[in-house]
Amino acid sequence: MAATPFELAGRRVFVAGHRGMVGSALVRRLSGERCQVLVAPRAELDLLDRHAVDAWFDRARPDAVFLAAAKVGGILANSSYPYEFIHENLAIALNVIDAAHRFGVAKLLFLGSSCIYPKLAPQPITEESLLTGPLEPTNEPYAIAKIAGLKLVESLRRGHGSDFISVMPTNLYGPGDNYDPEASHVVAALIRRFHEAKLRNDPQVVVWGTGTPRREFLHVDDLADASVHLMKVYSGACALNIGTGEDVTIAEFARQVAATVGYRGRIVFDAEKPDGTPRKLLDVSKLAALGWRARIALPEGLRLAYASFRAEHPEIGRAPAVRA
Ligand code: GDP
Repeated sequence: MAATPFELAGRRVFVAGHRGMVGSALVRRLSGERCQVLVAPRAELDLLDRHAVDAWFDRARPDAVFLAAAKVGGILANSSYPYEFIHENLAIALNVIDAAHRFGVAKLLFLGSSCIYPKLAPQPITEESLLTGPLEPTNEPYAIAKIAGLKLVESLRRGHGSDFISVMPTNLYGPGDNYDPEASHVVAALIRRFHEAKLRNDPQVVVWGTGTPRREFLHVDDLADASVHLMKVYSGACALNIGTGEDVTIAEFARQVAATVGYRGRIVFDAEKPDGTPRKLLDVSKLAALGWRARIALPEGLRLAYASFRAEHPEIGRAPAVRA
């Protein structure tokens, strides 16, 4: 097994999924590491095609891999396209992890997701909760594919001594987020909705659910920083939680988004819309013991996210928008 700390300097480091929110944050973060960052445009490399992935690894010969490529989406997308979610995520995990193994990659970090924990896991959720109960049915196909990825990594470590690791990020937000109202998660959804309401001078903004569920939010630049840190210092079989260790109610969160955007109208809650799980908070004590904690507090993270939203989507709010 490779020794820790694992040095990134001078290495060829492949970021799979570099166009996504997580992959692009990793590319930004790795630019400060004196390593050679490798990316593969989709037109050049289809991660669903095993032969293409093999050929790419054979040619590029990365020393390290961050596997951030995945088909992701909100509750609606997951329940509308269950086959695509399980099939694509299984294929990406199998093709990339297996090629990394066969082409001699020294270290790989696979990104799981906190939604792979059982629906009713005790809070805060420890790493030991994995596979202790039924999953949330709406994203079960996605979760099963991600669990399979974790098990590929764990089995290679056990059976072949590979220094491959996995991490489980909590709810993420930041540059490159998806602001499509049908597919977005709550951070992107509310940034957009409050922004549009401000531009239209709407007297009120509707927030889904009762406002009482609690969620933990991690800025994607913090995730990238934690991932690079763990790539260097962690070599273990346990898939580690990455989060802030703090959560807020959706009502409080909505007030923070309104303040960030500068919206002064009323906030109302539509209890007809689903709340989802009452609480989702990761236990981050293992991560803390390895010397990492989140640096971007929520108010600052929201300020950054609002700035990147406006830079990435100058068109939103200009044309007459659909009311939420
Ligand atoms: P979850 O963490 O898997 O439940 O994912 P979401 O980010 O989609 O939802 C988190 C919480 O925010 C849930 O309680 C939602 O009901 C609530 N929420 C409030 N307004 C919205 C919205 O406009 N879009 C989304 N996706 N969630 C919202």
